Amino acid sequence: MFDNWKIFENNLGFIPSNEIKEKLAKYYEILVQENSKYNLTRIISEDDVYEKHFLDSLLFTKEFQISNQKIIDIGTGPGFPGIVLKIFFPDTHITLIDSNNKKINFLNIVIDKLNLKKIEAKHDRAEELARKENENYDIAISRAVAYLDVILELVVRFLKIDGQAILLKGPRAEEEIKNSKQIEKKLKITLVNKQILPDTGFGERVNLFYQKNISTPELYPRDYAKIVKESGK
Ligand code: SAM
Repeated sequence: MFDNWKIFENNLGFIPSNEIKEKLAKYYEILVQENSKYNLTRIISEDDVYEKHFLDSLLFTKEFQISNQKIIDIGTGPGFPGIVLKIFFPDTHITLIDSNNKKINFLNIVIDKLNLKKIEAKHDRAEELARKENENYDIAISRAVAYLDVILELVVRFLKIDGQAILLKGPRAEEEIKNSKQIEKKLKITLVNKQILPDTGFGERVNLFYQKNISTPELYPRDYAKIVKESGK
């Protein structure tokens, strides 16, 4: 049973309630069970999942207030950060999207067994769903899905005007920011904040906050092949 709650206290400033702890424990149990049938994550030891997935999904909330916003988590995989956010912030409305149906089946098991409300898992590609759900979300969040210029193009159309994209990045964020300046201009989105977190043993984390001020030009997002081909990566 995980008991190193100090790392949550040290990094977030509080220890989760018993209700949250129980939900996290159940989530971990389902993750281990289902991971033995098909690959969901390489990180599976209990301490690692709590630190590198659960805690890591929440670090950005030190800089950004989550209340009852409408949030989409793009390329959520086994639910990071979307399921963790739902557990900690039950008033949010969360949409999880992933192009891999196995992940969606897994997420539906978690949603059901944890009895989570105001959350849905959609099997779709971001660049396609973005056109159907044009400007529908306050926040578009994404972790470990693609190089920054690619992910910016995938997320931007989902955002309402004045919405924010929150992109959880690693130690190469600065280089990615530099290589994404052109597309940033074309997408009409602006980097407004950068949260550089110290390496606490699981690699440096840089969380990027982008603001959308005007509607996304009709051209974007383009076909995935085109986006990737023109990436500065
Ligand atoms: N966000 C999770 C995390 O931090 O652990 C999962 C990261 S995993 C490396 C990337 C996920 O993005 C995969 O589950 C993949 O299926 C999904 N993905 C990649 N491109 C996508 C796209 N264009 N639309 C939707 N999902 C996509």
